[in-house]
Amino acid sequence: MTKRLFTISACNKRSDMKAAVVYEPLGNENLKIEDVEDPKIADGQVLIEVKKAGLNPVDYNTINGRLVYKLSPLPHIPGTEVYGVVAQDGGGFKKGERVVVYNRVFDGTCDQCISGNEHLCTSGGIWGVVSNGGYAQKVAVPQKNVFRLPNSVSDELAASIGVAALTSFRALRVAGCAPGKSVLVFGASGNTGMFAVQMASMIGCDVYAVSRKDWVEEFGATEVFEADKIPESMRFDIIVNPLGTMFWKESLKHLSIRGSLVTFGVFTGREGSLDIAELYTGERRILGSTGGTRSDLRDLLEFMKTHDLRVKISREFKLNEIHEALKFYNEDHEGRILISMRVS
Ligand SMILES: [Zn+2]
Repeated sequence: MTKRLFTISACNKRSDMKAAVVYEPLGNENLKIEDVEDPKIADGQVLIEVKKAGLNPVDYNTINGRLVYKLSPLPHIPGTEVYGVVAQDGGGFKKGERVVVYNRVFDGTCDQCISGNEHLCTSGGIWGVVSNGGYAQKVAVPQKNVFRLPNSVSDELAASIGVAALTSFRALRVAGCAPGKSVLVFGASGNTGMFAVQMASMIGCDVYAVSRKDWVEEFGATEVFEADKIPESMRFDIIVNPLGTMFWKESLKHLSIRGSLVTFGVFTGREGSLDIAELYTGERRILGSTGGTRSDLRDLLEFMKTHDLRVKISREFKLNEIHEALKFYNEDHEGRILISMRVS
């Protein structure tokens, strides 16, 4: 089998690892499981043995060339959401420590980075998109991207922090989530939605979920509505809509005076119309949020020490079963899809 050399973590050792590698033209059919050389650890980097990774829309779209971002390098190892254990002492970490990867590549010097918004770095991007990612048995990442996990966090939950939990945590923060507020979450059974419901509930909000899945109620929703059955008169202080076009009009309709609509995804489309007068006469706000800062991740990990977040897993696949996972992604499923870096 061909051994590939990847520039993100240039290789010098001969002990192999397995990784998922996608070739041009991008697409599921051009994703291969290959032997690649172990990553070389540059100064200030930490070598991590990856345990599990999440399969998110960003990962699926990376593999299928549907992102607005250009992939680098090509061929490319996808995977933006991983947890693992430190493989050897170094970079301030001890071998065996359980860690999560902060999935942004950032320079630390631009205006955004200096103001603490490294997720918006003008010369950076998403780890696993603008760099090789974590569908690999080992990764070498900068020390500044490595965060220790609380002991109480399960493996499955650990593999759901970097994208799913962090995105919801920041979105609620951006929208001013606080005790006593009413919150409506669209896509409540989705990767991010299940966390938005739990977190808002734990913060002390009255949370309503929009989903076809009843189990969302167990995550702290007062009531679960189907999308076309939200009571006409109900208004919400915060509306979380990561689904885009299909639910845009409905989101605005149910936004209270001085309410905030926060979005971080376009699963059903990128276009949405707006009654500008409705917006300003009610001092309503529409907010964008994306991923999170390192500070958000640190605060989320602290939050997790005292709040028992859960994750619903639909299925876990081994790395060599990744094509089955990608097929399953397009089928109706109940909860998250994870990729274990074990091979059978
Ligand atoms: Zn920067």
